[in-house]
Amino acid sequence: MKTTASPKAPLPVPSSDHLAERSRRARTEPMSVLPLGDGLYEIESASDHTYLVDLEGGRCTCPDHVFREARCKHIRRVAIEITEGRTPPPGEVAVDCHDCGETIFVDEDESAPFYCETHAIYPGDAVVDRETGDRLTVVDVSELRADAVEIGAVDTTVAEYETNEGYAGDVPVVGAVYPHARVARNGVVPSSLRVYVFPRTRLERAARS
Ligand SMILES: [Zn+2]
Ligand SMILES: [Zn+2]
Repeated sequence: MKTTASPKAPLPVPSSDHLAERSRRARTEPMSVLPLGDGLYEIESASDHTYLVDLEGGRCTCPDHVFREARCKHIRRVAIEITEGRTPPPGEVAVDCHDCGETIFVDEDESAPFYCETHAIYPGDAVVDRETGDRLTVVDVSELRADAVEIGAVDTTVAEYETNEGYAGDVPVVGAVYPHARVARNGVVPSSLRVYVFPRTRLERAARS
């Protein structure tokens, strides 16, 4: 059947109410969103149904999507939660900051310990040694683990070094210097210019002044 519509007639948009309704429900209905990794999210609806959303594939296991191919309220909800920072985007996971417990999102393949922006350290930052209370300046945050780096002078790894026994070995090592070289009568004490290595978790970011 051929239909002719006047260009001035309002365009028929039969599904606009449905779309608006899905949008509203996506935002307001109680649902819990659990990121499973690999871009998958498990949604538990208020009616106690559990659905699986594949965000990048734009798929959901609910009837609305399976039978009507709709961008259902579950897919929308996952997108909303990501935009609002409440759920990690595909490729990232939610973890706790080692020092304060704040929830942060990091790459799926990153390994612990994790730090929020306040507690992350970079070269030039001031840190405090938890064992001695000494203040130091970071010169390097390594990718190498404390149980893999040898301290040449004592023939042991950073992790095995006696004052580091309370810290896990599978954390990165951090090189740091004491901020002021010690000066004796006959000049600078050479050992005070040395870079000392610590397990990352032994050092705590000093409060910014
Ligand atoms: Zn759905
Ligand atoms: Zn923190």
